[in-house]
Formats: sequence, C-alpha cells, structure tokens
Amino acid sequence: MMVDLKDLYQEVIVDHNRNPRNFGKLDDADRMAEGYNPLCGDRLNLYVKLDDGRIADLHFDGSGCAISVASASLMTDALKGKSLVEAERMFKNFHYLVTDEHTPNPEQVTQLGKLAALIGVREFPARVKCATLCWHTLKSALEEKKTPVSTE
Ligand code: ZN
Repeated sequence: MMVDLKDLYQEVIVDHNRNPRNFGKLDDADRMAEGYNPLCGDRLNLYVKLDDGRIADLHFDGSGCAISVASASLMTDALKGKSLVEAERMFKNFHYLVTDEHTPNPEQVTQLGKLAALIGVREFPARVKCATLCWHTLKSALEEKKTPVSTE
C-alpha cells in the first residue's frame, strides 16, 4: 500500500516537472518576486495577480531541479482562486508536511491534495529547500519585499 502511494507521488512529481502548470510570465501581475536556492541552484520568478483578497492568477518561470519545478507547478495550481488567508494556511500545512519531525496524520495529508506528493522530501533536508523555495518566494511577493529571496 505504502509503495503504491509512493509510486503515485513520484508520478505527480515527474508529470509536473515535465509539464509545469502556469509556467511563463504574467504580464498583468500585481506582484512579483524572485527566489534563489544557492544550495541546489534553483531560480524562480513568481508572478501574482490579486483580486479582492484573492489570488486571481499565479505564474512562475525560471529553472531548477525537478523538485523545485514540480513544487512551483503544484503550488500555482493549488492556490489559484484561493484567498490570501487560505494561501497562508496552506503554506503552514505544507511546511509542516515537509519539515516537521512528526509525520502528519492522514487527514492533514488529504487536505493538501496533490501537494502531498512532495512528502518524500522530508527525509532529505537539502531537498526541503527545493520544495519550499516557491512558497517563500510567494510570501515575499505578497509582502512586497524588494530583495530577492534566498534559502540560505
Ligand atoms: Zn533544487
């Protein structure tokens, strides 16, 4: 059973890395931020279009490893149409999923939907930065920070 789940997660990551969703510049973005993970060399730009407290649209571009690209693709898919409060909550849940020493319970995993595919990185601390880079960059974009995000 556990093996099947891992295979499924692997498929999601491979798919989102090969065919990233919401990839490319967003010309009418309200917010933008760039993120860099020097440990792995992942670079990404995030473009956010807001509408009345919601994320109306969310795109990214850049280049990085399979985990960083798949994570950004999954994140943009998951957050489109969500309110900023919901986005903040998902960030917390996702961060918990990949960093907390306690394995999240099945309900927490289910709430994250496809984002849960990245649960495997929790066993590889260096990869956690690849998976969370897009989230930290989003936070920076929403907070209108002027300096690029670095995971170091
Ligand atoms: Zn990486």
